[in-house]
Amino acid sequence: MRSLPHVLIALAKTLDRRWQAYLNSGNFDHFIEFTLSLNGLTERLDQHNLPGLAAACQELENRALTLFGERDAHPVGETLAAQISQQLDTLLTVLYRHETPAIASKRHDESGDQDAWACQRGILIVSRNGHPWTAALREQLDFFGFTVADCRWRDEPPDGEAPLAVIFVPDREDSVWSQQAIADIQRLRNRYIGSYFYCLSVPSSLETVIGLQRAGANVCVPAGVRISDILSRILDLIEAREQEICRVLIVEDSPTAVAHIRKALALHNIDSRAINDPRELLDAASDYRPHAILMDMYMPFCTGVEVTRALRQIPEFKSTPVIYLSGETDIALQVEALRLGGDQFLTKPTNPIILASVVKTKVERHRDMLRSGRHDSLTGLLNHSASKEQLEQLLRRALPAGHLTVAMIDIDRFKSINDSYGHPVGDQVIRSLAWLLRGRLRASDLIGRYGGEEFIVVLPGVEPSRAMALIDRIREDFARLPQAHARGALRATFSCGVAGLPDYLSGDTLIEAADKALLAAKRSGRNCLVSARELARQDTPS
Ligand code: GH3
Ligand code: MG
Ligand code: MG
Ligand code: MG
Repeated sequence: MRSLPHVLIALAKTLDRRWQAYLNSGNFDHFIEFTLSLNGLTERLDQHNLPGLAAACQELENRALTLFGERDAHPVGETLAAQISQQLDTLLTVLYRHETPAIASKRHDESGDQDAWACQRGILIVSRNGHPWTAALREQLDFFGFTVADCRWRDEPPDGEAPLAVIFVPDREDSVWSQQAIADIQRLRNRYIGSYFYCLSVPSSLETVIGLQRAGANVCVPAGVRISDILSRILDLIEAREQEICRVLIVEDSPTAVAHIRKALALHNIDSRAINDPRELLDAASDYRPHAILMDMYMPFCTGVEVTRALRQIPEFKSTPVIYLSGETDIALQVEALRLGGDQFLTKPTNPIILASVVKTKVERHRDMLRSGRHDSLTGLLNHSASKEQLEQLLRRALPAGHLTVAMIDIDRFKSINDSYGHPVGDQVIRSLAWLLRGRLRASDLIGRYGGEEFIVVLPGVEPSRAMALIDRIREDFARLPQAHARGALRATFSCGVAGLPDYLSGDTLIEAADKALLAAKRSGRNCLVSARELARQDTPS
């Protein structure tokens, strides 16, 4: 049985203590502390890639938040307290079951263990022997770099690392989930507390879904959903894990307020920097590049509204969320402040939980907005114009002496895939190439959707010949990847043109040369790569 990092157990114990303290005192402040603890634990569970537990903890946190109310609403009634106690008990029992003797040092827990959880890419499939879905799922998952194990219902899974996800495949499409199956899920939930559990072919009966959820299922996939959709959900799970840091700049002249705010933000893993003189704002903002700004309303030199208006003149900070902090209760002034370019008004002293959650929501919404402008919705890759911008940036870093290769990739005879199998299958082919590229290339490489079924790949620090070898392997794998459709599976291929430094020195000429090479690849029969250098050599009369 996999043991949990000590830091999580320590957090669980704090949570436990705080709840007991609240039960004893009925004091609102103890309730705040308990909720804060829950919030911290949810976040840690998430960071340690324990989505199942994180979801349970989050549920409890949401419940606590709904009971927040006013100070005099506490203590909450006995029935509610008992319900929370029970929910908390379930969570803690699972956590404590995985406690290990404290041999390892704290440092080891914080760094080493966390990496181990973060790296897990194992998938366990539970099904009956020879179920056709098992083979199909395994084949696809293998392709995208997952390590797949399987076991039969009732059997113990093979030893080793806890999987990222467990997929339960019932016997028949229209199967009823038997008591035995539910007991099996529960047994595995106890063993793999942090894994994500998917139950496939779940009938649309509320009773069944609730039963499965109680046993530990995270996702119930209805009958009739295609394997490719299940795969895409699992891939989403990995993507969501990428933790993004959040930086907040505090503009506030009162040291006490600054200390209070920074403490509240730090508790929620939000990085912050504070300045007490608004005249330093423009420099501090360019240097620190905050994702949100907490702005005091009244400062010695000017008001928060004036500072915000000045900040909005700089294109980079035109839409950065600004949250005003003030003791002000004058509604008219608040409306005016918002009209002039603030996003939210909070009165001081601010409740730390509200403060952190407002900051997070604002930052997330702002990020979503930026992302949707730069990313393609079908694949999540950079879109056409963002790809070109990003290429320019990478070029600036690579020039004058570094390596960089641009590859243009286009799916072969894609129109006939659409015509023969329908647009949704075509979309799925596009998505699978996007995933494959993402799975095989480095995080520092640029992958963009340049057109309908055309992709751009930019590999900084890589010369064209090496890039060709790399992409050629991806080409071979893509050609073997089965693309499911209603009547079976099809195979798709792509062609690719490659150009690099120092033969071409600007973004436009690199793309143009790679495009020409792509055209040559199409002419020479498709499903192959052509380099712009080779093409130029053939074109030059000797
Ligand atoms: P070639 O091998 O020469 O590249 O032939 P092709 O059929 O792939 O090229 P063509 O440019 O003639 O056709 C591309 C087709 O891609 C036309 C368009 O309807 C389709 N397409 C563009 N965007 C999408 C999309 O988002 N989803 C789907 N399913 N089809 C798309
Ligand atoms: Mg002030
Ligand atoms: Mg094409
Ligand atoms: Mg095309």
